[in-house]
Amino acid sequence: MRRFVALLLFSATLLATLAAGPRALAHSPYRVEVEGTTLDGTHLYLRDGQLMASAGPLAAALGLQVRWNDTHRRLDLSGQGHWAAFWLGSRTVYRDDVHYLAPAPTSPHDGLVYVPVWFTAQLFGYHVTWDGSVMRLTRKGGTGGAVSGDPLLHPNFVFPFPAGAKYEAYRDNYGEGRSWSPGGTVLRGHEGVDILAPKGTPLVAVADGTVVRVGWNEFGGWRLQIRPDVAPQYRIYYAHMNGYGANIYEGARVRAGQVIGYVGRTGYGPPGTEGDFPTHLHLGIYQADGSTINPYPYLKAWEGRPLVRLW
Ligand SMILES: [Zn+2]
Repeated sequence: MRRFVALLLFSATLLATLAAGPRALAHSPYRVEVEGTTLDGTHLYLRDGQLMASAGPLAAALGLQVRWNDTHRRLDLSGQGHWAAFWLGSRTVYRDDVHYLAPAPTSPHDGLVYVPVWFTAQLFGYHVTWDGSVMRLTRKGGTGGAVSGDPLLHPNFVFPFPAGAKYEAYRDNYGEGRSWSPGGTVLRGHEGVDILAPKGTPLVAVADGTVVRVGWNEFGGWRLQIRPDVAPQYRIYYAHMNGYGANIYEGARVRAGQVIGYVGRTGYGPPGTEGDFPTHLHLGIYQADGSTINPYPYLKAWEGRPLVRLW
C-alpha cells in the first residue's frame, strides 16, 4: 500500500510535467483557472461539496513544491511563504504550525492524491471565486491577504468594534476544529474569527449595506448578516450577540459604524441558549455559494481605520 501511494504521488508529479493527460478535463463539467490559465493534467470532481484536484498539477500551478512522505502518508506543500501538511484520508491539515480542518479529506482518486482546491489555494494566499463550474484562483498581493481592487478593502469598511471599545487581542483561528453540532458528533471547521470582549460591548456595521438576516440560529445564537453595498457578493456575519441595536430588521439599511448589536454568548442550542462559551464576537465572511473566506486579514486591515461613509 505504501509503495502504491508513493507511486500515486510520483505519477501526479509526472503528470504535471507532461502535457494534459488523456482524461484531463474531458469528462469533467468543472474547470480551474490559476491566474487566468486553465489547470491541466487532473480530473476535477466534487467531494463533500468541494472541488477536488490532483495535488501534483495543482501544486505546480500554484507555484508550490510538493513532497510525499511515505512513512506518514503525508503530503507536504511549500511555497508562497507558507508550508502545509495534509494526511491521506484525513481532513486534518497544518499550515505554518496552525491546525485547520479541511472541508473535505485528502483523498485517493484514480490512483492519485486529491485535495480540495478552494481550501488549498486559500492556505497559500490565493483569492478564490467559484460560479458552480469555474473556480478562479488569483494571487493576493503582499502578506496581508489583500489585493488592490479587493472590494472588502474598500475604505468604507471599518472594524466591527467602535473606536474605544474594549476587546481582547485576537488571532487567526479561522479553520480550526469546532466539535459542537446539533447531533453532538460532527466536527466542522471554524468559519470565522472570534474576538473576546465583555458582554454588552457594542458592535457596529463594518460597511454601509443592507441587513439580510436577523434572528436566532442554533449555531450562531442571535446573529445578523449584512450585505455590504461595495461588496454585495459577500455577507458579513455576526454571531453570539446579546441583543440587537435600534432599527435592526431584515431589509434595514445600515451605515458603517452604526451600532447593530451587542457582544454576548448566545447559541449552540434552541432559542435563548447562552453561556456555553466566553462572551465574544464571531465574525464570518460568506460568499454567494455559502462558502467562507478567512476574515482575519480583513479585520487586521479594518482595525483602527477612520470612518468613511458612502452616504
Ligand atoms: Zn467563532
